Amino acid sequence: MTELHWLGATELASALDAGEVSAQEVAGALLQRADEVDPSVRAVLTRTDERLLEDARAADRRRAAGALRSPYDGVPVGYKDIFVTRGTVTTAGSRILEGYVPPYDATVVQRCSAAGLPLAHKLNMDEFAMGSSTENSAFMATRNPWDLERVPGGSSGGSAAAVAAGIVPWAWGTDTGGSIRQPASLVGIVGVKPTYGVVSRYGMIAFASSLDQAGPLTRNVRDAAALLEIAGGHDPRDATSIPGPAPRLLDGIDAGIEGLRVGIVAEFMQAEGLAHGVRARVEDAYRRLEKLGAELGEVHLPISLEHGISAYYLIAPAEASANLARYDGVRYGLRVDGEDVVAMTSRTRAAGFGAEVKRRVMLGTYSLSAGYYDAYYGRALRVRTLIKQEFARAFEHVDVIASPTSPTTAFRLGERTADPLAMYLSDLFTVAAPLAGLPAISVPCGLSPDDSLPVGLQLIAPALQESTMLRTAYAFEQDLGFAASPEGRPPL
Ligand code: GLN
Repeated sequence: MTELHWLGATELASALDAGEVSAQEVAGALLQRADEVDPSVRAVLTRTDERLLEDARAADRRRAAGALRSPYDGVPVGYKDIFVTRGTVTTAGSRILEGYVPPYDATVVQRCSAAGLPLAHKLNMDEFAMGSSTENSAFMATRNPWDLERVPGGSSGGSAAAVAAGIVPWAWGTDTGGSIRQPASLVGIVGVKPTYGVVSRYGMIAFASSLDQAGPLTRNVRDAAALLEIAGGHDPRDATSIPGPAPRLLDGIDAGIEGLRVGIVAEFMQAEGLAHGVRARVEDAYRRLEKLGAELGEVHLPISLEHGISAYYLIAPAEASANLARYDGVRYGLRVDGEDVVAMTSRTRAAGFGAEVKRRVMLGTYSLSAGYYDAYYGRALRVRTLIKQEFARAFEHVDVIASPTSPTTAFRLGERTADPLAMYLSDLFTVAAPLAGLPAISVPCGLSPDDSLPVGLQLIAPALQESTMLRTAYAFEQDLGFAASPEGRPPL
């Protein structure tokens, strides 16, 4: 049998069901794996060994008593350190929250616990989810398990690297402009950003509230559907949560894609900066979709390509500047004393926030200020509307839109840290879906012929059409066979 740490969540659930292994054995094997590889990968910010073992013991007791909470009872899950966890330090990768112990669980955490999923670690991230490499974490840089000199992407780089390295079978991340899909792509796993409002944002530390959405990072498409079923659905504690129960995504996931209309984004394929090896792999992917019965056509998203990044980097910082006002030295975490409250607050923020966060707060405050609101923020909102409209037009002709997830494979540590604009361009193909509120997935499509690093295929669907998107990704994944083969695992 494959080593326990390489099993996906559904496979672990079956092994538990068959009595081949206990939840405590699974937890033990994962902790051993973390001991072996995390000193070099550095995905975990806070290890929760005791909690994991305790939760696993409880899962074994429930199984013995025939009182399972869900089919995944006993399968551990990791969390990006942006989800608040009662009694366990939660930092959002920032010094300003160092040592902060939340008094409650995020809805995502609470629902996963209610389904019996033991809590396996708080995972590294760019500070307040601002970044594309996890190098903006105030605590450490996470490495890409495929090449330890390279980044795992970001901002959910800790979650992505932990799943790819076999430290956890699945994990939660958040995506504002690409932070689930881009790291998934760079480490060769599956990442889903659901339709805005499908997963509750309650207890998810806010970056840009109109864009932030939680989603799964997993080793295969079926696991992603399962994790969304567990934690999705209406939450009265989040005013932007979509009414209705969690979407049913496993039903019909294997129904195939005969006759499905897939649109290739012409402008994305012509984009300057699209790496040769990425282009080669996604073009293979398009042909594979066609072979599986899909009808391929072209769609046009010129505004998304040309203005998406600019609109995103005005809207997200504007919202961030408002959301981060709460870190004032009084309510949470760090305080640096000063003669009066103004001095105390500014010293706390000066010491507690990293350079990228300060850059965004300044950018956001500036673009929202009276004289510039219309010229910057107002215009960015109008571009956002145009992007929504161009997607609506494209979806008149196709069911799913396909593109590369990231223009390049994993880049080297330090390569883009000195140049924020180069870092922002990592998000070229991912920012449009969140601006339009649409669901999108990154699914591995093999290794680049140039550098043997993973390449991700992005699929975007109309709002609430997660099932079509997942069915497409599943058909592709099964036919490619990459995720299930040893070739799909990093040499670690
Ligand atoms: N890389 C983008 C940023 O820095 C996206 C981050 C995210 O999705 N949280 O804002």
